[in-house]
Amino acid sequence: MTEITGIHHITAICGDARQNLEFYSRVLGMRLVKKSVNQDDPTTYHLFYADADGHPGTDLTFFPFQSSPPGRLGIGLGVEIALAIRTGTLEYWQARLSEHGVEMAAIETRRGDRALPVVDPHGQHLALVETSDARAFTPWRESSVPADKQIVGLHAVRAWERDLPLTATFLTNVLGFSDYGEEGGWHRYGVDGGGSGKHIELREQPNVPRGMWGVGTMHHVAWRVADVETELAVRARIDAAHRRPTDVIDRFWFKSVYFLEPGGVLFELATEGPGFAVDEDPAHLGEQLVLPPWLEAQRSAIEAALPPLGAAHRP
Ligand code: ZN
Repeated sequence: MTEITGIHHITAICGDARQNLEFYSRVLGMRLVKKSVNQDDPTTYHLFYADADGHPGTDLTFFPFQSSPPGRLGIGLGVEIALAIRTGTLEYWQARLSEHGVEMAAIETRRGDRALPVVDPHGQHLALVETSDARAFTPWRESSVPADKQIVGLHAVRAWERDLPLTATFLTNVLGFSDYGEEGGWHRYGVDGGGSGKHIELREQPNVPRGMWGVGTMHHVAWRVADVETELAVRARIDAAHRRPTDVIDRFWFKSVYFLEPGGVLFELATEGPGFAVDEDPAHLGEQLVLPPWLEAQRSAIEAALPPLGAAHRP
């Protein structure tokens, strides 16, 4: 079972859309590759940040729910999103984030890789983790961060669980993950060797209350599959394990299946294609509000309801 090849994207809930754009585009230097709306609530933006080409595995997306209360970290919730940077660039990032007044903790070492825990302006816990693993990454020429120091993709997700074996068994027996053991209380499960962009780390926290979605929390992690045929094969096993996966939903840039892992973290399967260039010129990704075809008829009403965002920040 090697259908899942890594993380496809991660989605989180944030506050004010402009502050989110300011942080991820200007401070972290990621490219806004798609400016769209929440397909289930078109009065809310859906912002996608990635590398220059929007490679699967580089994409971090946000729903700005400005009026939502802050979320609460807890079991059954992703508690940290790790972003991959190149080995030897952590001091650059530490200085850069310090200049921008970003909340940070001390550098730590995770399985030999240096990691810098960071909190974004809306309370989202992130970590910048150095890696030398091969990554599919295209630097963005117009980024405020030099090409050799840019974020090269999503590195990992960390989640808290009440019952570790319950989720671990599901990951290994149903989704085809391997167990890469424990370090510092974090148990790593991964696919294809479990390197950068290919793992999740779980910590058992039996006495912590259930986490709650809200501003500053991860919403879901999507796992990457090559195509719909592969997606359906994995979906059939999820269904057989009574995790009640959704049908395949057309997200236009990819096709998705959603389900809760047994501990409560929302997972998604997402296909590699067709990708973000299906509806925009690759040179101008993210510059215009893009709507899926079935919302196009409501464009003027949708645009009138969204707060102005302005252009993505350039250096
Ligand atoms: Zn998703």
